[in-house]
Amino acid sequence: MNKISRRQFMTTASAVTLGVVASNNVSAFEKLSSSVNKLAILGGTPVRQNKSWPKWPYVDEKVVASITKTARSGIWCRIDSPNGTVPTFEKEYASLMGAKYCVATGSGTQSLHTCVEALGIGPGDEVITTPYTDMGTISGIISARALPVLADIDRESFQLDPTIVERLITPYTRAIIPVHIMGQPCDLDSILTIAKKHKLYVIEDACQAHLAQYRGKRLGTIGDLGCFSHQSSKTIPCGEGGSILGDDGGLMDQCYTVMNHGTNKKGRSVTIGPKYRMNEFEGAVLLAQLPNAMEQWKRRNENAAYLTSKLKACPGVVPQKLYNGTESGSFYLYTMGYRKEYFNNVDRAVFLKALAAEGISLSSYIPNGLHREPWVDHILGLKVYQEMYSPARLKQYKEELACPVCDKICSEEMLMLWASGPLLGTKKDMDDIVNAIMKVYENRDQLAKVKL
Ligand SMILES: *Cc1c(COP(=O)(O)O)cnc(C)c1O
Repeated sequence: MNKISRRQFMTTASAVTLGVVASNNVSAFEKLSSSVNKLAILGGTPVRQNKSWPKWPYVDEKVVASITKTARSGIWCRIDSPNGTVPTFEKEYASLMGAKYCVATGSGTQSLHTCVEALGIGPGDEVITTPYTDMGTISGIISARALPVLADIDRESFQLDPTIVERLITPYTRAIIPVHIMGQPCDLDSILTIAKKHKLYVIEDACQAHLAQYRGKRLGTIGDLGCFSHQSSKTIPCGEGGSILGDDGGLMDQCYTVMNHGTNKKGRSVTIGPKYRMNEFEGAVLLAQLPNAMEQWKRRNENAAYLTSKLKACPGVVPQKLYNGTESGSFYLYTMGYRKEYFNNVDRAVFLKALAAEGISLSSYIPNGLHREPWVDHILGLKVYQEMYSPARLKQYKEELACPVCDKICSEEMLMLWASGPLLGTKKDMDDIVNAIMKVYENRDQLAKVKL
């Protein structure tokens, strides 16, 4: 009995339902269960031990050589040369992604702020987005002193719910910022239809979504403008960095001007803008990341598809729902919804602790939606908001900030794997993830004994 490997056992146990195995051969199952299937948190053997994941960010000699070359060149700032690393990255990234133009910035947050300013969105205007995202998504909206209107999300996809978006449109709404959360496409068909009907700009927050594809196009090239982050955890990283993609030459020139403290390409200072230039060392790292990016993106997609197919055997863990039209994701994050009714009703924290003991660490990710952070009361107390929005509008705004689905995802359901490195792993690594989850599921009776 002990000779049966965990892998073999898991395959049998997940192929047939546990009930069938147990009722056909109760004593054999129970023996197997006590020898192999004691949860690691209760003293059993962990599924995964003494193994590491592929490291992220990815560093090779090309990265080191590229930085050294830039250091020696003395070209450290993008305006020193039209052939420096930043202008070159802009050309290469636009071409890789299938966009006409790219403007590099110092971060995803800076990219989003630049787009908001370039579209002339400011005090008195409203922009609709999701509460389930990085603060960088709305930082640009409030930096421009516009009002971020937060629409609740879909429980299965964790993405902006288009029916709620449409309900929140007012005469002052200027734009929607759909976020492709986890790097997989949001319900873009519906969002684009709503935007067209109400004449709203669409700024895609593709900060997590490098190379992902939707209906034949890369994310970030479908709306009016698309924003990317190149922060170290993201799938095309340089430490801190950002980029904007777009096809409208005039609008992209305006993005450049805003990004360049209001000074246009002809050297005239024409508008309001911060200084958000990417530096040449960041450009150097990005140029050295690009040759590997496609291969890595392909591998993450293959591993994600494998995980998703295997996890069908576990009804209590539901991989992120993908919309029709999705051709690939970035899988910056691989996420699942936790359904405690399939785990003897134990809270997510218990499940996460048991899984971590098996050698698989998942995160609960964002602790609470942006609608629950103190910036809300801060901006509502500012003179500019009180003067630019009516008291009735601000009262309604606060009432509509309730996002119960987002709250539930944050506090009870999200299971997140940092995937940039781990999804570059082997099939064996993926089996470890599945086997650990299946082991906890199949031994859920033991979870009642787990102390937090
Ligand atoms: C990372 C991220 C941002 C911000 O990008 P930074 O480069 O960290 O400023 C914005 N939106 C989303 C969805 C992100 O994941």
